[in-house]
Amino acid sequence: MLDRRIGADTLRFAVLGESLSHTWSPYIHNSLFLAASRNAVYLPVTIGRDRLASVVDVLRSCFAGFNVTIPYKERILPFLDEVDDAVRACGAVNTVENRDGRLIGHITDGLGMLAAIEQGGVRTQGIRALILGAGGAARVAGYEFLARGGEVTFAARDAQKAGRLSVELGETQCDGQARIHVCTLDSIPCASYDILINCTPVGMYPATDASPVTRDVVAQCGAVFDAVYNPRTTKLLGLAKAEGIPSIEGLGMLFQQAVEAQKTWFGPDIGVSAEAQQEIYRELSAEL
Ligand code: NAP
Repeated sequence: MLDRRIGADTLRFAVLGESLSHTWSPYIHNSLFLAASRNAVYLPVTIGRDRLASVVDVLRSCFAGFNVTIPYKERILPFLDEVDDAVRACGAVNTVENRDGRLIGHITDGLGMLAAIEQGGVRTQGIRALILGAGGAARVAGYEFLARGGEVTFAARDAQKAGRLSVELGETQCDGQARIHVCTLDSIPCASYDILINCTPVGMYPATDASPVTRDVVAQCGAVFDAVYNPRTTKLLGLAKAEGIPSIEGLGMLFQQAVEAQKTWFGPDIGVSAEAQQEIYRELSAEL
């Protein structure tokens, strides 16, 4: 049978990375395209660092959009024509929109995290978040909570790194500095937080018996989100369950950042019902 699924009119999308053997992005995006009956295809494109400029040239001329992952989230910046506020604040890009040859950079990880948290039944507006870590995920989480009028405490093993993050993020928000606090992972103030967000790799396979904080710290929080998604239920989420508070898995962020990427490409309605999105998510979960 002649396979007519891909032709001259098919919209092309891609993820660019140096090593993509573990990426879930093609499965998620192609499943969303299928559910939306969209004439589009999404491909993994593995490239060496010396080829970034020439590959971006090709993508600019014949791809409708693309994602970027390690190590290109910052390296892509010089090739873009425009970036959004979140990218200016976070200094990294994961999604590029091609608007008639102009490349516009977005970062959808933070939006994806907050969407996953809201789907877990926890509000994200104006709340106090305790964020563990001071790397890329901590930065996008901090940016989004601050942008929603919240207050954030960064707890990191390297206090200086957390301090630098606090200054840089504080400058991007009106009265931001006053709403950011910093401490080390072993000196978290005894206060109450609406949510604990783990943005360290602690608890990730194969060291699944580790938690970045003790149950005492978890008990100070109203909910827990863990960016780690392998395993789906980390030791930290187990502590949250034992405390009887909502525990939200990182896989939801992985899925929702893709949904948010599609919104930059197609607009707020990506053409996939909530039920169809849940079905794709269920299938993704079953793979892990
Ligand atoms: P990153 O930029 O490398 O930052 C990692 C942070 O964790 C740094 O502050 C680092 O401290 C700290 N850290 C590392 N090992 C630690 C340890 N043993 N104890 C305490 N702190 C430690 O990484 P990232 O991109 O932010 O990612 C963080 C985690 O989120 C990873 O597990 C990643 O897989 C996950 N993630 C998940 C999603 C998703 O869709 N669910 C998306 C993005 C990231 P130093 O700076 O001192 O090294």
